[in-house]
Amino acid sequence: MFELEGVSKRFGVTQALHPVELRLPPGRTTVLLGPSGCGKSTVLRLMNGLLPPDTGRVLFDGQPLPSEEAAVLRVRQRMGYTLQGGGLFPHLTAGQNVALMASYLRWPHARIRARLEALVELTRFPAEALERFPAQLSGGQRQRVGLMRALMLEPDVLLLDEPLGALDPMVRSELQVDLRAIFARLGKTVVLVTHDLAEAAFLGQHVVLLRDGRVVQQGTLAELETRP
Ligand code: ADP
Ligand code: ADP
Repeated sequence: MFELEGVSKRFGVTQALHPVELRLPPGRTTVLLGPSGCGKSTVLRLMNGLLPPDTGRVLFDGQPLPSEEAAVLRVRQRMGYTLQGGGLFPHLTAGQNVALMASYLRWPHARIRARLEALVELTRFPAEALERFPAQLSGGQRQRVGLMRALMLEPDVLLLDEPLGALDPMVRSELQVDLRAIFARLGKTVVLVTHDLAEAAFLGQHVVLLRDGRVVQQGTLAELETRP
């Protein structure tokens, strides 16, 4: 689904990512794991074309990501993406946040409503809270809204940047269990960023370990643990 061939990225004097080779297994959950600042979010943003690589190329579904803005937007619609904290618009209700892209694409109201119902059920989000604004939701609920928004257009892949970051431990473990069930039910390619080893172990079927802008190991967690 995703291949990175010699992809690198620099911000000013910071080499955020040294040339990297990556091939992610389709239909499975890959976790990008490593300490803060090691380049995880950069990899995610290179994958969805939000950042152009300095060198190399990103392949999605066997095709290089286009460089023209309109073309990359079309490809990006096939990728659900969430930012840490959900990245919700504060002046829109939860439901409006989720439906935003579908409204923009002029989906009929009935289709939007049906999709919202399916997503509320999938993510175990309380339907009545769709009317609330992000500030009136709990952190866990905001993350569920971010997830629903990412899934609204039925994307082929899901890119999640620290979906469990900044949550208190109880909420975090509950959402973690739900995420695992959701990923299994969807059967889509998921790429999830975390700095938490336990979370990577629980959610990741394939783990990519990053340090200082380099991939130091990748494989199943069992494979990583048996290597020195
Ligand atoms: P992680 O997601 O692992 O915390 P990032 O990919 O966000 O790491 O960042 C990798 C490195 O690149 C860090 O040193 C970070 O400060 C730097 N960086 C990321 N984005 C930018 C940017 N837009 N401008 C300048 N430096 C950046
Ligand atoms: P088991 O481990 O007994 O197969 P699971 O509930 O873990 O049971 O998995 C059921 C199905 O969901 C399997 O096909 C598995 O590959 C898939 N699956 C499990 N966890 C994930 C995950 N985090 N991401 C994607 N698919 C998953």
